[in-house]
Amino acid sequence: MEIAELNMAPRRPTRRIKVGSVPIGDGAPISVQSMTTTKTGDVAGTLQQIYELAGAGADIVRCTCNDAEAAEGLAQIVPRSPVPIIADIHFHVEMALAALEAGVHGLRLNPGNLRKPEEIRLVAAEARDRGVPIRVGVNAGSLHPDLYKKYGGATPEALVESARIELAYFAEVGFEDVKISVKASNVPLVVAAYRLASATFDHPLHLGVTEAGPLPGGLIKTTAGIATLLCEGIGDTIRFSLTADPVEEARAGRKLLEVLGLRERKGLDLIACPSCGRTEIDVIDVARRAQEALEARKIPLQVAVMGCVVNGPGEARGADIGIAAGRHKGHLFIKGKIVRVVPEEEMVEALVTEAERIVAEGIEARLAAADVGAEAEAAADREVLFGEQGVDANRSDEVVAKIRQTLGDLEPDSGTDGTDA
Ligand code: SF4
Repeated sequence: MEIAELNMAPRRPTRRIKVGSVPIGDGAPISVQSMTTTKTGDVAGTLQQIYELAGAGADIVRCTCNDAEAAEGLAQIVPRSPVPIIADIHFHVEMALAALEAGVHGLRLNPGNLRKPEEIRLVAAEARDRGVPIRVGVNAGSLHPDLYKKYGGATPEALVESARIELAYFAEVGFEDVKISVKASNVPLVVAAYRLASATFDHPLHLGVTEAGPLPGGLIKTTAGIATLLCEGIGDTIRFSLTADPVEEARAGRKLLEVLGLRERKGLDLIACPSCGRTEIDVIDVARRAQEALEARKIPLQVAVMGCVVNGPGEARGADIGIAAGRHKGHLFIKGKIVRVVPEEEMVEALVTEAERIVAEGIEARLAAADVGAEAEAAADREVLFGEQGVDANRSDEVVAKIRQTLGDLEPDSGTDGTDA
């Protein structure tokens, strides 16, 4: 069984749509979206950001189309973009039509602020004729006032009904090429709304927690919402909406899918121990330097930085490669096997060099090239450290003894545990 299958519900069946070359729904890989923060009329600046987003893991990028300059910019951006482009539309029907004219691969309409049925039908008919999908992007913060009143607020039912009303307008012109989002900034509301949407529609769902805010809170909120739904099999495409450089959004989206086993790892996965009483190095600093160097070289491996050679290589034996400190040395290991011992000040450099060699030659070849005597040297270092630090380097036994003494002091004379019968 794949790791990804262990705790994941089967993905809910949905229809398939395509945003440009990217399939969404019906078992297609879950895609990552982000949005540019440049003025769309700034073609060079927007394209540069789109390339950065694509490099960080975005499969699809959305750009606002809020004025004539933006629409004209899209006409130049779309043919030069490395990923499909979606135009974000609010309020102005003419911007939706202009974006379609510019050749965008998808539209996002907000039913809360593009409200006239005849305008909605007009855009849907034009999208139908051009074969362009639309996201019905319901947002709790801009819910139609009638629905707000009917449901007494932005409830899951209100958000889902907003999408249902929009779909009905689309159906009147025979348009069904749709995905749906029901976003809010409140995580429990998001989870409940998407559960209801998933039970109501068979269209693909675009997941997100809107206005999640700056790091790290925004990341945590969004991960909590999106990951919960993905583990239930809900969701076909995702976006982190962070108050940060959008590259962080793309990175986070990609990373979340990778750690859930829903997309193959494309880049580095750096794991590092939290460090404890055994370590002799600054693990945070070493991990940071290693991460920067490995990311700069786009090393697509799982790499471990461990604070001690006593436990590090064993605890991180699943990693492709790692380094563990001890006795002023770096113990380089591949799949848990020590292959080289280097001076501590060279450990990051040695780690990066070996990682590059693994990428070029493969793990088996690099295991075969291990230094003779490295395992024995590491074993000797472990022994010395055990001797110096003892089995309990964190002095947990002392703490446990103190806890027992404290609890013993508190024990009532009666010898009972003090709870009421
Ligand atoms: S025992 Fe070693 S590897 Fe584990 S947390 Fe402590 S320093 Fe890190």
